[in-house]
Amino acid sequence: MSEQQHGHEAAQKAGFETRAIHAGYEPDPATGAVIPPIYATSTYKQDGVGGLRGGYEYSRSGNPTRTALEGNIAALEEGERGFAFASGLAAEDTLVRALCAPGDHVVVPDDAYGGTYRLFDKVERAWGLEHSSAAVSDVDAVRAAIRPGETTLVWVETPTNPLLNIGDIEALAAVAHEAGALLVVDNTFASPYLQQPLTLGADVVVHSTTKYCGGHSDVVGGALVVRDLEVAERVGFHQNAMGAVAGPFDSWLVLRGLKTLGVRMDRHCDNAERVVEFLAGHPDVTQVIYPGLEEHPGHAVASRQMKRYGGMVSFRVAGGEQQALGVCERAEVFTLGESLGGVESLIEHPGRMTHASVAGTDLEVPADLVRLSVGIETVDDLLADLDRALGARA
Ligand SMILES: *Cc1c(COP(=O)(O)O)cnc(C)c1O
Repeated sequence: MSEQQHGHEAAQKAGFETRAIHAGYEPDPATGAVIPPIYATSTYKQDGVGGLRGGYEYSRSGNPTRTALEGNIAALEEGERGFAFASGLAAEDTLVRALCAPGDHVVVPDDAYGGTYRLFDKVERAWGLEHSSAAVSDVDAVRAAIRPGETTLVWVETPTNPLLNIGDIEALAAVAHEAGALLVVDNTFASPYLQQPLTLGADVVVHSTTKYCGGHSDVVGGALVVRDLEVAERVGFHQNAMGAVAGPFDSWLVLRGLKTLGVRMDRHCDNAERVVEFLAGHPDVTQVIYPGLEEHPGHAVASRQMKRYGGMVSFRVAGGEQQALGVCERAEVFTLGESLGGVESLIEHPGRMTHASVAGTDLEVPADLVRLSVGIETVDDLLADLDRALGARA
């Protein structure tokens, strides 16, 4: 590990926001640059054969901008090491190949992110990896889906997408470990500010840094953080051997995003709470789905393991699919689009958009469902926009 990855030892033990701003990088000794440069270089001059400066020889193996991001996100998740990838799915594929072999079995959420499910079902399965699905909110169902001696990974998302189901990370870690499997938590929806799965017993954290970590809808990226050195070595080997690394500019964008993660998440949560309150009082809204609501079945677990309940809100409307589609189309401040976690509010119809590929399967979502990624605009503008979009009934 380079000196920079260890950088700012004090910052690694400091509070979350201090780590977000300082961990992973020391001001450049030559210039004092406070922010790591975008090291747009593929290779590095050696001082004699094998005389590497700071361990860098080729940018697939290591790049200082990426190193800064990897050190930073490891500090935020309180893990041993971080790894940055070209996308969330690239991180997932690398992790699976690092920790599984053909013939192994994994348990995946029955409402996994569609791309994750497709990766297991269409890509990893052809490679010889079997999978079964279970509801992450049901610890017994996850235990029952494990095949002792064959299951190497229990894969969990919490909250899930778009129904915001909650998995009990501590209990699921115990169930996985009992069976000799590792627990992987996709922490994309919560972000490390709201939830740190490694501190609750998980072995690996996965992020689509495209979402809250980047936070500005301007980069696609992924990350893994691991708690154990042996796992780190396998992941590090596969990161280099498979090559799906984050480039220096993308790494720089995610690192910049992480510096403001705490303040952004607090505002996402503040605004989401106001949106939930508004929707709950609207006559055309039949159900509001948000883990912060006491009637949400995962509320108690979410209260234990999350700092707050996040910026994602889903709701169902009385007017069925037509009204759900109409709301999505009439909203103006909420931009109609896929993805989530950026500063701007987004609205979408999961049944026709993000979850269209699971129609007709067990993962199908209700047609009257609308999903919001509540951004950090002026909250009154968000409420007025929803009021207008809901009001004109199709
Ligand atoms: C977006 C997303 C992914 C995939 O990440 P990409 O960066 O799009 O490859 C994985 N998991 C969750 C929960 C996501 O939202």
